[in-house]
Amino acid sequence: MHELLERKKGIRRNILIVDDDYIAREILIKMLGDSYEVSCAENGVKALDIIKRDKLKLSLVMLDLNMPQMDGYSLLKLLRSDNELRRIPVIVLTSEKGAEVESLKIGAADFITKPFDMPEVICARVRHSIELAEDSVIIHETERDELTGLFRKDFFFQYGKRIDELNNYMPMDAVVVDINRFHVVTELYGRSYGDSVLKIVGDSLHELVSRTGGLACRRGNNRFFIYLPHSDELEIKLPQYIDDIDARINDNNISLRYGVYCDDGSEKNMEQRFDCAELACRKLRNSYESCFVLYSDEQHSKELFSERLINDIDKALSEKQFKVYYQPKYSIKGDRPQLSSAEALIRWFHPEYGMISPGQFIALFEENGLIQKLDRFVWNEVATQIKRWKDMYGVDIPVSVNVSRIDVFNAHIAEILENITKQNNLDNTNLLLEITESAYTDDSAQIIETVNKLRGLGFRIEMDDFGSGYSSLNMLLSLPIDALKLDMTFIKKICENPKSARLVGIMIDIARLLEVPVIAEGVETKEQMEILKKLGCDIIQGYFFSKPLPPEEFEALIEKN
Ligand code: C2E
Ligand code: CA
Ligand code: CA
Repeated sequence: MHELLERKKGIRRNILIVDDDYIAREILIKMLGDSYEVSCAENGVKALDIIKRDKLKLSLVMLDLNMPQMDGYSLLKLLRSDNELRRIPVIVLTSEKGAEVESLKIGAADFITKPFDMPEVICARVRHSIELAEDSVIIHETERDELTGLFRKDFFFQYGKRIDELNNYMPMDAVVVDINRFHVVTELYGRSYGDSVLKIVGDSLHELVSRTGGLACRRGNNRFFIYLPHSDELEIKLPQYIDDIDARINDNNISLRYGVYCDDGSEKNMEQRFDCAELACRKLRNSYESCFVLYSDEQHSKELFSERLINDIDKALSEKQFKVYYQPKYSIKGDRPQLSSAEALIRWFHPEYGMISPGQFIALFEENGLIQKLDRFVWNEVATQIKRWKDMYGVDIPVSVNVSRIDVFNAHIAEILENITKQNNLDNTNLLLEITESAYTDDSAQIIETVNKLRGLGFRIEMDDFGSGYSSLNMLLSLPIDALKLDMTFIKKICENPKSARLVGIMIDIARLLEVPVIAEGVETKEQMEILKKLGCDIIQGYFFSKPLPPEEFEALIEKN
């Protein structure tokens, strides 16, 4: 590029004249020698050697068509098909009628007819061809990425929009391609290896858009965009494209992710299409294999919803949009079921979305740690409520709260909980803690340590969703817990399926072995309750007795008891 600009500023250009006719060569040298550095070759083979050697310096080739050895047509075709030599313009020298059209067709910049009888015209044509070629190189180099030859972002979007306009906004698909952990690849194997990978990806995408129509662009260091005329079969063809590119890279450590927006007729513009493709691509952050994700509106609105909830949580906490509901647990050991405790379950009354159940936000808030804030709010609410009931009715009603696996990793969890009970003048035994079984399998050493500490302070621990995790029987024996809460899914089929009932029986036996009571939740019918009672279950929670209730309604149950 720099060299080109230098040349623009009046440095003498190099021209190669290729002609087997000595006199023709001499005439041209005479015409052009004052303004240009002129060299000569008398056939195609010699010319090709010189062109290869001087490819960076040569500004023009003047080429006779009829020559021994390699003729002008063959040389011209060769030059046009070579990536590096293509840039050098060629003027064809000919006396044959009709040869002009043929040579322009295979890529000559211009032609000059023999005999050379108009020197001014010839000089003008030479100058013109050189200037045109240099201008187009400059344009090419500014609009293209140097390494891959693909468009740079600005030009990509400019041309893409032009395609849209010219084609009356026909449907177009957008694909974002990203190389996974590319920085690791360059760190391990070096920049030039990284560059070679980028080049392979660039070449492959270039070939793809040459076949399908459309544009390709290198965006940032290791991302690529492609814009293609819409195909209903893109989804079917993609795995093949992906395999092909993987095969060309041929390195198991390198994988690509593809985010795909397939035109769905929703009249998005080019930028919006790529926003969608990027969104889909982001879903694949941690993949170790090349794969693709299709954008869907549904996924998008789900993400927007999640974002909204994350944004709204602080306001919701301060405006008390969260309400704690209480679901009673009944002891079924005696003749009559007896209210024994409750489970606190959160509800979000959102000003716009109405009541949102925890299934929609707990996992989300676990992902980003916000759950700690929310759980602390619940624990405080519950402690205050226990205290209020104690003052109102003179009885202790223990309430269990859900302790997320994320809470357990907080080194201060014991202090936090103890502060809460202290502030409300409660005994730690009043606050039961439900920890899901799968949390134990995540990081058992850490959780056992925390749970031991909490039990040391008098808190009682219930293992929630028992049977859904993968605790080994051996591990169970060493677990510090105070109750087992059977996973709801086992209760569902207990009436229809004798095997389910037997399985629940076995779980109850395990609880006996551990010497802890068993709680069954999700009990919806009298039959389920009776089977559980027969099997020796201690406590029942579920719609059969009551749905989770707001505190005012729960009070009616306390009074009835
Ligand atoms: P979980 O701890 O297993 O709670 C039991 C769920 O089953 C609750 O759903 C409850 O409303 C529902 N349920 C109770 N009885 C029945 C029944 O007879 N039939 C059926 N089909 N369902 C019943 P909910 O309230 O939607 O809570 C879902 C999950 O969200 C809870 O599962 C718990 O893991 C989590 N969660 C709820 N509140 C909190 C909270 O304050 N903190 C944390 N960390 N998690 C919470
Ligand atoms: Ca629970
Ligand atoms: Ca549960």
